[in-house]
Amino acid sequence: MTSTILVTGGAGYVGSHTTRLLLDRGYRVVILDNLSTGHIEAIDSRAELVRGDLQDKTQIEAAFKDRDIAGIFHFASNILVGESMEKPWIYLRDNVVSACNLLEVAMAHDVKRFVLSSTANLFDAPDEIPIKAEARIAPGSPYGESKYAIERLLGWMERIYGLASCCLRYFNASGAHPDSTIGEDHHPETHLIPIVLQVALGQRERVTIFGDDYPTVDGTCVRDYVHVLDLAEAHLLAFEAMKDGKSRKYNLGSGSGYTVKQIIDHAVAVSGKPIPYTVGPRRPGDLPVLVADTKKIADELGWQPRNSDLETILETAWNWHLAHPQGYSTPKA
Ligand code: UDP
Repeated sequence: MTSTILVTGGAGYVGSHTTRLLLDRGYRVVILDNLSTGHIEAIDSRAELVRGDLQDKTQIEAAFKDRDIAGIFHFASNILVGESMEKPWIYLRDNVVSACNLLEVAMAHDVKRFVLSSTANLFDAPDEIPIKAEARIAPGSPYGESKYAIERLLGWMERIYGLASCCLRYFNASGAHPDSTIGEDHHPETHLIPIVLQVALGQRERVTIFGDDYPTVDGTCVRDYVHVLDLAEAHLLAFEAMKDGKSRKYNLGSGSGYTVKQIIDHAVAVSGKPIPYTVGPRRPGDLPVLVADTKKIADELGWQPRNSDLETILETAWNWHLAHPQGYSTPKA
């Protein structure tokens, strides 16, 4: 029988790409999304949408009604590190309460598998680079803290209810679907690659590089950019592996790092457009280098970052921006 997966945040960036892959592989998908930051146009027509808010358990119940949910992919959350330093309660409280509500309803319906969208922001004080899945946890913000709290909740769900979970700590999610129908569209946009491409499109005057006095090859920060399709694939592999009833935690990146200046240079080559930049002050909280060690997920699940070379990331992102210069058409506040 076809399994039904509940995808929270299926109208968002990683959620919409993962939904597409699930549907392509023959799963049924029900999306639970309040569309506060997600986009209705990002929802695949083969998926069912239950418009609802995780803060309200009755709205979560609506997604379970008359459905046999085999697993949950939990993406819906507030996701901005910087915002979380200014509005900590929508992270420390709301992200955690949403997860508690979801898990309470899920356990009442005897769900056995759960994949969590987690973050590299758990590793704010790395002892070594690349960062292994077993590295010491030191959340770098209320956002990271909220994901760590949810990872810990999942430990209790396993112990008490036998829930198998997989926590996937993304490094820098990037790129877009190769057919350019879905991609990255955040309001406000804070991420480097979309900002760089908006400059290439002439929508912004220049990129401001946040500091060029870090101990890296060119003084700008190094990050590990991983293609959103590779993230999606990892979710499916994790879900399928959890048939064995075991929980897991993995770090997900490409395993290679690029500086901010290298991203700009490659984006100039891919877009064929000038991308002016200036150097501004460091952004508070930025670490010089963040790169994932992905050996654990490669060894255990056979995952490989097949789309995460910088050319593929930038080409798919650029094609998405060309096809949707204003992003999805329904405006966000
Ligand atoms: N960055 C930058 N200018 C920008 C946005 C980002 O220099 O306008 C840098 C940022 O300091 C970091 C890297 O680009 O070193 C990636 O930032 P992003 O916000 O995309 O992801 P993060 O690594 O913070 O999760």
